[in-house]
Amino acid sequence: NKLISVQHLVKEYNHGTVKALNDCNLDIAQGEVVAIIGPSGSGKSTLLRSLNLLEEPTGGQIFFDGVDLADKSVDINLHRQKMGMVFQHFNLFPHKTVLQNITMAPLALKKKTPEEAQKQAMELLERIGLADKAGEYPNMLSGGQKQRIAIVRALAMDPEVMLFDEPTSALDPEMVGEVLDLMRSLAKEGMTMAVVTHEMGFAREVADRVVFMAEGKILEEGSPAELFDSP
Ligand code: ADP
Ligand code: ADP
Repeated sequence: NKLISVQHLVKEYNHGTVKALNDCNLDIAQGEVVAIIGPSGSGKSTLLRSLNLLEEPTGGQIFFDGVDLADKSVDINLHRQKMGMVFQHFNLFPHKTVLQNITMAPLALKKKTPEEAQKQAMELLERIGLADKAGEYPNMLSGGQKQRIAIVRALAMDPEVMLFDEPTSALDPEMVGEVLDLMRSLAKEGMTMAVVTHEMGFAREVADRVVFMAEGKILEEGSPAELFDSP
């Protein structure tokens, strides 16, 4: 039941002078929540971007559902649609309403009819208690609201996996909780998630497994108890 298997992944930049990933190995099972922690520059973002095919590996392999993503038969756009990604900065489209932000990708990719997309977007907004904001523009919203909308926008594509890259790092402290609550509820529903975070409370409480990265590889991994509770 390995959904994702990263094997000996290497990613070099600047003609090999920077090794962002250096023999990185990681398996993620269906429904598993993996928290990825580690110092700045250790390769966490590069790993997530590689899973989403936003980076081309220098070496090693990534398997998704048993298929090597480097395989010629893999449709990169189709793969990306399976991977919902949420960044530190929300990247909402400022000139589109909240509703349009959520329906845009499913409509552009003809994944849903306008009626279906609209219905789902309203259900997602209800879920996060922001249905009354459907017609507003992002600049009217708080950081926490924007990030929750960025998360449901990713969910509107019905992804198989959600990737989070420091989703709460740019938020004022009082808004972190509402974003973590939404992520916790996704985890409870069985969403497969990889979460780069500095929120150790979240990692301890929600993650099935915590991996610690340094210098482009995973140095330690285990259950939150194994990693956080000293013997
Ligand atoms: P983290 O997310 O853990 O902070 P990153 O994956 O962002 O780490 O970066 C890992 C290393 O790779 C860092 O040394 C970073 O400067 C370098 N790096 C990341 N992206 C690029 C890039 N596009 N070009 C050159 N170096 C990069
Ligand atoms: P994060 O906060 O997610 O680790 P960074 O601030 O490291 O992100 O990187 C932001 C962007 O800049 C990424 O697209 C990354 O590829 C690029 N980048 C990071 N480090 C370098 C670098 N040393 N040279 C060129 N681009 C870089």
